[in-house]
Amino acid sequence: MSSRLDGRIALVTGASSGIGEAAALALAEAGAKVAIAARRRDRLEVLAKKLEALGAEPTVLVADLASEAEAQRIVAETEAHYGRLDILVNNAGVMYLEPVEQADLGRWRHMLELNVLSLIASTQAALPGMRARRDGHVVNISSTAGRVANPNAAAYSATKFGVVAFSEALRREVYQHNIRVTVIEPGVVETELRDHIGHAEVKANLNAWADSMRQLQGRDVADAIVFCVSRPPHVNINEVLMRPTDQE
Ligand code: NDP
Repeated sequence: MSSRLDGRIALVTGASSGIGEAAALALAEAGAKVAIAARRRDRLEVLAKKLEALGAEPTVLVADLASEAEAQRIVAETEAHYGRLDILVNNAGVMYLEPVEQADLGRWRHMLELNVLSLIASTQAALPGMRARRDGHVVNISSTAGRVANPNAAAYSATKFGVVAFSEALRREVYQHNIRVTVIEPGVVETELRDHIGHAEVKANLNAWADSMRQLQGRDVADAIVFCVSRPPHVNINEVLMRPTDQE
């Protein structure tokens, strides 16, 4: 039985939990072969078993993507293993929230490097192959925080506004090579993302707000990703802004 992404090769960063894990599974269910990258090998190996059962011939790529060299390496290894890369889902990210005056700039630098620079590096590494084949799709995960800037999220928003801007400029650079670019901007998704907020009050307030609504699930965002990458070649969904129905 043929399905929409049969024969396509995808790489999902940040696949060890949350949106990335759901995206890897959804892409596999749609027929793609899937490489998965993150730091936590144990989580990736559990996911790889599920992907194997779906016929996705997974490759586990353990990498700390805060390093741009690692971001480039996972693209090169995916291409070496499968012969090409068709769909790059740049999803790995962290969200460190705190007031500007109290911010730990070391943590914010790490967030900027992971959320923005690493995404740029993996994209840059994927472009030559996509251009040579005149076929490719880059999906970048931004956030509603890439559209609306809130207090305590100054640097996180700077990264996610940055992802939106990068994606649009990239799209305009590469569309003539038949490479598609999509940026996804989810609202509140129930994942581990908020666990890493160091500021106790900011974390408690955000968790209380999130708990007050029916949050998106990773699968909801994964479905949007699969929808975008499974459109016919002449259709490029540039941007998807999605929120829980209960989110203002
Ligand atoms: P999770 O914390 O569940 O997932 C984050 C993923 O990124 C994990 O797989 C983690 O893997 C990976 N990651 C973190 N740091 C690194 C690193 N240094 N190197 C490699 N991988 C890393 O959160 P989400 O699923 O929610 O987050 C995924 C993306 O979605 C992020 O970009 C986030 O900003 C965005 N987003 C999330 C929203 C939400 O409400 N949850 C809303 C809008 C956007 P590991 O720790 O194993 O390395």
